[in-house]
Amino acid sequence: NSAAPIQKVAVLGATGSIGTATAEVINHLNRVDSQYRWHLWAASGHQNLDRLIEIADAADDPPEHLVMSDPASAANFTSMDAVAGGAAPRPNSSSWPDSLAGTRISYGPDALIDVASAPEVDVVVASIVGRAGLESTLAAVQAGKRVALANKETLVVAGPLVRQAMLTSGAELLPVDSEHSAIFQCMGGAASACAPGHPSGHPSGPNADPHPAPRPKKLILTASGGPFRTWTKQQMSDATVESALAHPTWDMGPKITIDSATMMNKSLEIIEARWLFDLPAEAIEVVVHPQSIIHSMVEFDDGSVIAQLSPPDMKLPIQYALTYPRRLACPSPPLDRTRSWDLTLEVADQDRFPGLTLGFEVAAAGGTAGAVVNAANEEAVGLFLNGQIRFTDIVLGCRDVLEHHTHESAPTLSRLLELDRWARAETRQRFKL
Ligand code: NAD
Ligand code: MG
Repeated sequence: NSAAPIQKVAVLGATGSIGTATAEVINHLNRVDSQYRWHLWAASGHQNLDRLIEIADAADDPPEHLVMSDPASAANFTSMDAVAGGAAPRPNSSSWPDSLAGTRISYGPDALIDVASAPEVDVVVASIVGRAGLESTLAAVQAGKRVALANKETLVVAGPLVRQAMLTSGAELLPVDSEHSAIFQCMGGAASACAPGHPSGHPSGPNADPHPAPRPKKLILTASGGPFRTWTKQQMSDATVESALAHPTWDMGPKITIDSATMMNKSLEIIEARWLFDLPAEAIEVVVHPQSIIHSMVEFDDGSVIAQLSPPDMKLPIQYALTYPRRLACPSPPLDRTRSWDLTLEVADQDRFPGLTLGFEVAAAGGTAGAVVNAANEEAVGLFLNGQIRFTDIVLGCRDVLEHHTHESAPTLSRLLELDRWARAETRQRFKL
């Protein structure tokens, strides 16, 4: 539909698991959406230029802008072609396809901020992993974009600052994380603080909604339980990297896969939910659901529980964040109702998975706690993947570093980033590394 208005999307972290799925969803939308044309306007990768070029080349319309966010990446190209108009030079690589002749490329973390806040961009998909996604996600929020948020670590580190920026700029923060997308859908989108543009996001004033959507009583996050759902603590203390990377239901990047095995992923999601939906930690629960079909549930005051179900495939929550409030045909498979299926729910075991307890504590504490635990976790996951610490050391390290820091209730961004560096160093020191 070439006459349709264009939705220009910037995908930050396009070379990752979520980013790659997003690029597929964008092409798919051009087959099924009669209202908009979808354009992968900008895409970033950190070090893998070949992969970034592959994604850009596969897009229906060539991107305007590519970003390699690792500043060292530019130095790796043996020769560069100058580009007219003062743009950054382009790698003189035979792999630069003709289809990208009009595409600019730039380098370094500031280039992420430039595309995240570019006036042309309608939607920013925040799919960088870890605290590295914070500045660009915040820039997109400050620029008043629709932000499709996969990068949960941004809310864990700086939830209150993101909320404040949303109120000032009118940005929409739409969850991509499947659990938070499920909750958003169970609330009908409306009661959520995610989309302040929605009428019921503004409960007072002359245009107040006469039937404002009720606030939920409880958010019930489901967890697959990961590869060690049935393992004893002793077994987990001897877990190999390979066994921790073998997730039973989801195919994801390495960091979140290890987080799922420790259940620190659920812990980060408790904190994410606390800020995304502006509910206290006491209103959040976790249940284990090994099939990953119920993506989360919401309980209301009358006891009614609403759940969202679909097969475990991130393309559905990604697409919903792009097209909300519209629902269009999606490339994820439908739920197969031609055979019987089990949906089991188990109590989450905080004794075997002490990371969960940490998540509830951090969600209740707010302030500097999220930045400290997130940094300790990122560092410890890296050390485990390198074979330098045991699997069970990851959560022990997070708890230790949290308890060694002096809590502050209203930190600035620069203070949070300082504590992020401190907590990484402290984690290494704890393991004498
Ligand atoms: P991934 O490792 O597959 O991809 C990460 C992306 O971030 C890549 O594009 C990489 O180049 C980029 N990146 C890495 N380090 C960077 C840095 N220092 N600066 C800038 N860019 C950097 O990760 P993923 O599984 O796609 O996860 C991305 C985010 O989405 C994470 O926050 C994760 O928690 C969240 N998430 C992922 C899934 C999933 O199914 N994969 C589900 C829910 C939420
Ligand atoms: Mg999730």
